[in-house]
Amino acid sequence: MDKKRSRIDKKTINRRTFLKGLGLIPLIPLLPACQQATKELLSSESDFFSMISPINRTINDHSVFSGDDFSRPHHILWDKKSYIESIGGLTKPIRKEELVIIGGGMSGLMSAYLLRDKKPVILEQASRFGGNAKGEAWKGLQYSIGAAYLIKPEQDSGLYKLLKDLGIINDWTLKRGGEGNVVINGKLIENFWSGNSEPNHKATYKRLYDYFMSFITEGGNTFPEYPTQDATLRRYINKLDQEDFKSHLERMAGTALPSHLTTLLEHYCYSSFGGSSKEISAAAGINFFAAEFSDIAVFPGGNSHIAEALLKHLYRALPNNHLLPGSLVFDVKKEQNGVLVSYLDANNQVKSILADKVIMSCPKFVAEKLIDQMPAAKLAAIAELEYRAYVVANLLINRPIIESDYDLYWLGSGNADINKVAAYAKKRGITDIINANYSSPDSEKTVLSFYQAFPYNGGRAELYSQDAYADMKTRISAQLKNEVYPYYQLTEQEIQSLRLTRWGHPLPLAAVGLLDRGIVDTLSAPIDDSIYFIEQDNWALPAIETVAAEAIYWSSLIR
Ligand SMILES: Cc1cc2nc3c(=O)[nH]c(=O)nc-3n(C[C@H](O)[C@H](O)[C@H](O)COP(=O)(O)OP(=O)(O)OC[C@H]3O[C@@H](n4cnc5c(N)ncnc54)[C@H](O)[C@@H]3O)c2cc1C
Repeated sequence: MDKKRSRIDKKTINRRTFLKGLGLIPLIPLLPACQQATKELLSSESDFFSMISPINRTINDHSVFSGDDFSRPHHILWDKKSYIESIGGLTKPIRKEELVIIGGGMSGLMSAYLLRDKKPVILEQASRFGGNAKGEAWKGLQYSIGAAYLIKPEQDSGLYKLLKDLGIINDWTLKRGGEGNVVINGKLIENFWSGNSEPNHKATYKRLYDYFMSFITEGGNTFPEYPTQDATLRRYINKLDQEDFKSHLERMAGTALPSHLTTLLEHYCYSSFGGSSKEISAAAGINFFAAEFSDIAVFPGGNSHIAEALLKHLYRALPNNHLLPGSLVFDVKKEQNGVLVSYLDANNQVKSILADKVIMSCPKFVAEKLIDQMPAAKLAAIAELEYRAYVVANLLINRPIIESDYDLYWLGSGNADINKVAAYAKKRGITDIINANYSSPDSEKTVLSFYQAFPYNGGRAELYSQDAYADMKTRISAQLKNEVYPYYQLTEQEIQSLRLTRWGHPLPLAAVGLLDRGIVDTLSAPIDDSIYFIEQDNWALPAIETVAAEAIYWSSLIR
């Protein structure tokens, strides 16, 4: 297995190399690295840190979802006016700060790290930082409950420098992309792109394989790298953005796609975008899927490892009282002498801070509720966004499973009905499986993570109902018993537990036209020089690469 992991084909380039060619690598501001933060935390510090860390190492068996807890924010933000009246209006600020960041997910943490000399205050509504990039650990084995991996960044990219600066660059395990192992009808199909599972369509498989490879091979097609500030590249991406991913690929293949190929692309789009290949823009589809043919970097615990490293540095670099978990912001108001940020703290006390500048690192549908003075054009742009829901199930297994692939696409019978997306997705359930052992091969245990997006509007309601946890557990357990246990030859005795994580609005849909119609530009535009927006929604592209590019670009302007 180790041998396989180190086999990285150097003929291909990854998507960051393309940027290098244009000389557009965004640079991280040259601040001294937080050397102090690389030291171990003192035990009293580490007690507190362990409670706010993106990685929960104190899991116990309980019958509730982890992930989003929606009761507090919904109650307050969905009827903000009544709430503010009930507390007798906004309070006077208790402190004045240069920079306040709202949201402590990956974008808030990266922005805070890049601007740490400004001593930002981060207000995060959840009890732990990390947003969707959270993880858990079971007997030392870290696994993701959300964002799992990234495309290996090129050495002189901003993201690579950031990971290096954090001191975690050697923590990843690299996986060669494009190997394309999938499971159809309970059987492993290796080397999917050979077309062996649908021999009559080998020519179509080859045409599309070559097409994807052309984006990551020197001298091939231009990779649609975004976020971008380059006008020529943007025109090219806008053109791709006019078409949906599936139609685009059919046009490139010159024929309708065969069934197994359709199913893989459809499941990939569910898993990565929360949408169907018929609604995802070809720009987003190629940006994600072609990049999968280059190298993939997997940290123990997935991207929560990065979030934890960022938080650790901030924990040491910032003064006390600057990392504020459990702090739900409910109002952001521009005033004459700054921006007034009002929030409910972890003890349910109403507080406010007057800030010179504010970064909104929360989703746009939340920002809309917080800022009454939101410009009309921005409100209209936000109204264009759809968000899709997600469940991640983690199966804790009392033995190692080391021979499986890192990310295995689970294609059912390989006959996705993409004309009835909601019905098909509900029936199919999980669409891919990630093995946490991949980055911790010495573990005596295994955690398999099952990904099930809700690639249709209305999926969120299914997760909020009173019976949602029991329903999901029953549905997922049945699929595991019928399909997954036989595949891995698992017995009930080997299972420690099944843990479910729910995400209500985690994925902005990368729908056709958001780039071409300039919606994304309006979404990301700051309000004056005082309220900035740094979050994955800026480009409706849910990936750490989006977040890093936006944090690097906007933090240099804020500075
Ligand atoms: C299941 C799943 C799998 C994924 N897998 C990958 C992957 O493998 N690789 C990848 O690159 N990306 C993946 N993603 C996308 C991932 O979401 C992004 O990479 C990134 O983590 C998003 O970070 P963010 O900070 O922009 O948003 P979020 O993570 O949504 O962070 C926003 C933060 O704002 C906080 N907040 C919201 N409202 C308020 C308020 N009123 N007051 C205070 N705080 C507030 C939230 O609690 C949250 O912490 C995945 C997403 C999901 C859901």
